[in-house]
Amino acid sequence: MKFIHLYVRVLNLLGTDRKLGWILAIANVAFAMALFAEPVLFGMVIDTLTRTSAQPASLIWQKVWPLLLTWTGFGLFTIVCGTLVALFADRLAHHRRHIAMSDYFEHVLQLPLAQQNDTHSGRLMKVMLQGTDSLWWLWLSFFREHLAAFVSLLILVPFALYLNWRLALVLIVLCILFGLMTNFILQKTQKLQLQVEGHHSDMAEQVSDTLGNISLVQSFARIQQEVAALKSISNRVLSAQLPVLSWWAIVTVLSRSATTLSILTIVMLGTWLFTRDLISIGEIVTFIAFVTMIIGKLEQVVSFIHRLATDAPRLQDFFHVLDTTPSIHDAPDAIELVDPRGKIEFRDVVFSYDGKQPAVQHLNFTVQAGQTIALVGTSGAGKSTALGLLYRAFDPQSGSITIDGIDIRHIKLASLRHNIGVVFQESLLFNRSIEENLLVGDPDATQAQLVDAATRAQAIEFIERNPQGFEARIGERGRALSGGERQRLSIARVILKNPPILILDEATSALDSGTETRLTHALEEVSKNRSTLVIAHRLATIRRADNILVMEAGRIVEAGSFDELYQRGGRFTQLVREQFAAIPERNAP
Ligand code: ADP
Repeated sequence: MKFIHLYVRVLNLLGTDRKLGWILAIANVAFAMALFAEPVLFGMVIDTLTRTSAQPASLIWQKVWPLLLTWTGFGLFTIVCGTLVALFADRLAHHRRHIAMSDYFEHVLQLPLAQQNDTHSGRLMKVMLQGTDSLWWLWLSFFREHLAAFVSLLILVPFALYLNWRLALVLIVLCILFGLMTNFILQKTQKLQLQVEGHHSDMAEQVSDTLGNISLVQSFARIQQEVAALKSISNRVLSAQLPVLSWWAIVTVLSRSATTLSILTIVMLGTWLFTRDLISIGEIVTFIAFVTMIIGKLEQVVSFIHRLATDAPRLQDFFHVLDTTPSIHDAPDAIELVDPRGKIEFRDVVFSYDGKQPAVQHLNFTVQAGQTIALVGTSGAGKSTALGLLYRAFDPQSGSITIDGIDIRHIKLASLRHNIGVVFQESLLFNRSIEENLLVGDPDATQAQLVDAATRAQAIEFIERNPQGFEARIGERGRALSGGERQRLSIARVILKNPPILILDEATSALDSGTETRLTHALEEVSKNRSTLVIAHRLATIRRADNILVMEAGRIVEAGSFDELYQRGGRFTQLVREQFAAIPERNAP
């Protein structure tokens, strides 16, 4: 039943091409029916020849010609039908594969970060590629072979019963045996196949994780360990796969034997019936052709079930991802956020990644439009999480966040994110050219605007130093650039976006002091007249912030201006003292 459900779901994915699917299905049935004519006509020709053997040649031809012409007609019909099915089934399957792939891709991109945390990108990619491959194969083979094979079986058996019920019993027993055998093998292999697929996914994750961290692997001389880890997964794949292969090999051997045995049985039984005058030679010939056809169809059906059993876990994984509803999506009455002034309020916000340990709790603060707020505190205090909640990377478990008095859960997600610019802790960049990376900020930006943004972000100098300038490709995650260059590029990107609300997550942590001073000025310039939330470790850079929130273990423990907090002699003073005490130490010879 599980297989049937899965198969029906695969066919339902045909979407708008369902009409073409139906036409192909009907052509297939016609094709399958036309195929039966051959053995019947063959038998009729033989019977005619035996009956008329004593008559003159012209009379024999007179009787045989109509049969041969009908046979030719059916032959031509099957060739035309077969060609059309082959041609269109191929197009349909390829076309739908690409649609399924882009639907999956779009869906995965909409899943919030919290949901993606459990799933490695390598695994998601493997599920997409193999899942769509399985879909393609199922569609193609359904329209090319399997529908015809199923229909043939459904028609052949009753038809055989009608022709000669005694011989037909042999065919029925054969069908039942095949059914029982396939079912038995499925029971034996299903669990193992699931394990095989699980190990394949582990392998995809392992490979993608290692390749994504190739500098780490090389610098820690971990090549052998990583290869060994991959080999260990390969061994697990093989030890689960081999028994499955053995079971299906048994099916192949049994079906071969069944062919020989069935034909022998039909010949023996046929001879016995012939001696009792219960059957003609033509009927025996028709039956042998039938048995060969039925066994051919049965083999097709069994090989289809074999492939479906192999692909079922892949398809289940594929549908599992597609069925994951994004926990963060637009409310039905969500509105556009048009030109917000940028007043932000956090009211009693609580969020936990795992539902147990809160990452932030009871956050209460207000950012007036155009103000700059700084979040400080030790690593892991919850600063990035607090700001991630503002652009709905995740939603709080309780409490609310508003912009200009509107709860952000009532604002369209795309509209919310259009109004917020983020400079991430690690600069996230595409393996594309500098220009393409900058255009992410504003796809319509002119060359002059690109140059202006790069200049304001202190990035123009290193861009122009490169012979390819804005056309230069920057490698996977910007690997071809230095940490400071990556940051300046991501600042230029947000300058182009020009949002009313800005989030700077440790944006100035990897720059040399000269560039940092210039960049700090640029950022002050950029944050003018926009609500800005900054996470900064160097406390000197946030002297001019309107309000500083000191966070510890997910809570705000102190709030106020730099001078107020410093004079209070609390946690902030301690942080400042620690930082300034650390400087001479670091510089000490
Ligand atoms: P900060 O920005 O102050 O360094 P974070 O907001 O990154 O702190 O982290 C707050 C807490 O949440 C930490 O205990 C951290 O381990 C945890 N955390 C952060 N990101 C994730 C995540 N994606 N999944 C699970 N836990 C996380």
